[in-house]
Amino acid sequence: MSNNYVNDFPILQKTMNGKRLVYLDNGATTQKPLSVINAVQEYYAAFNANPHRGAYELSVKATQIYEDAREKVRKFLGAEKTSEIIFTKNATESLNLLAYSYGMTFINPGDEIVISIAEHHSNIVPWQQVAKAKGATLQYLYVNEAGVLTDEEIEKKISSKTKVVAVTQVSNVLGIINPIEKIVHKAHSVGAVVIVDGAQSVPHFAVDVRALDVDFLVFSGHKMLAPMGVGVLYGKEHLLDKMPPFLSGGDMIEYVWEQDTSFAPLPAKFEAGTQNVGGVLGLSAAIDYIEKVGFSNIEQIEEELIHYAIPKLQQLPFITLYGCDDLSKKTGVISFNVKDIHPHDVSSILDADGVAIRAGHHCAHPLMQYLGVNATCRASFYFYNTREDVDALINALGRVRGVLG
Ligand code: PLP
Repeated sequence: MSNNYVNDFPILQKTMNGKRLVYLDNGATTQKPLSVINAVQEYYAAFNANPHRGAYELSVKATQIYEDAREKVRKFLGAEKTSEIIFTKNATESLNLLAYSYGMTFINPGDEIVISIAEHHSNIVPWQQVAKAKGATLQYLYVNEAGVLTDEEIEKKISSKTKVVAVTQVSNVLGIINPIEKIVHKAHSVGAVVIVDGAQSVPHFAVDVRALDVDFLVFSGHKMLAPMGVGVLYGKEHLLDKMPPFLSGGDMIEYVWEQDTSFAPLPAKFEAGTQNVGGVLGLSAAIDYIEKVGFSNIEQIEEELIHYAIPKLQQLPFITLYGCDDLSKKTGVISFNVKDIHPHDVSSILDADGVAIRAGHHCAHPLMQYLGVNATCRASFYFYNTREDVDALINALGRVRGVLG
């Protein structure tokens, strides 16, 4: 079973080491369809100017393109206002913005910041910095043996001391979808704000920030077909309004005196300096492409792929799987290890067959420690992957044992 989406992605027509490229590292970054590549190229060929600065037509056009993209992201996330959509360079910058602006301002000694053990480093390290600077404590929500965050854990860890709950919607290692509604309900009942890391969810299923009632949500464009270098921070307006700027300089000011500055209103307050307009336009084209494919389709394809791949992996006696007990709340991410062979060696041998997977700690050291491993292999799907890609992975894994085992 092949699928036609592949034809829209020039890089997927390539061979690697003389073999068809089987790209299974979508959790790290996705490939780009021609429509996104063309949108970026067209921006630089026809519309390039610094937005918000010039009174001449080209700058006005660049401003319009940039602000139209903001409106597209607003709709895509179901946000109420465009002032709630901030462009950043990636999810990491969005999370740092929240830690340094919200965290450093509103967290006090004795407060607790709750994160999960399955966070990416970009949603751990900034909170460690805040906790250290402010005399607060980092509390961890631990997943159970199946990799799931239970109601009991949420009830136990989120308390009247909690000021911020920052959790990923989907683990980049296990692909397990966290119960964001329950977390939001509990956090709001104690007056805490909820920050959702949507880096691994927003590309894979519809996320509506108002339906979830999250206070903040971040994601990276490059994990959902867009170019690298553009990310998004969504925040409720009344919260963003009371937060100080993260970066300061041009574009984020209203007026600058010798000794003081008044800041621009949202969203400009958080967009200091020249922005990645070409990247933002690429993100807009990526959203168009994703909406054309449709999230129900994307979810169905990924679901079929894990239901096809996991039983095949389970049949290989030398494979250990992580977080694959319940496939009902899981995106297309599969972490595994090959008995007695380091993930880096597995990945190198698979590469000789044109199969690209991730190997390592996946920027999740605390989760690795919790799982009792140093590293895993990770195959992560997107909607352009096919059963043939899974077959190529399984065949190549058979060869790993032949070469090293
Ligand atoms: N959060 C999660 C869950 C991720 O998987 C990643 C990247 O892998 C990030 C955050 C950071 O994304 P970026 O490197 O694009 O900032």
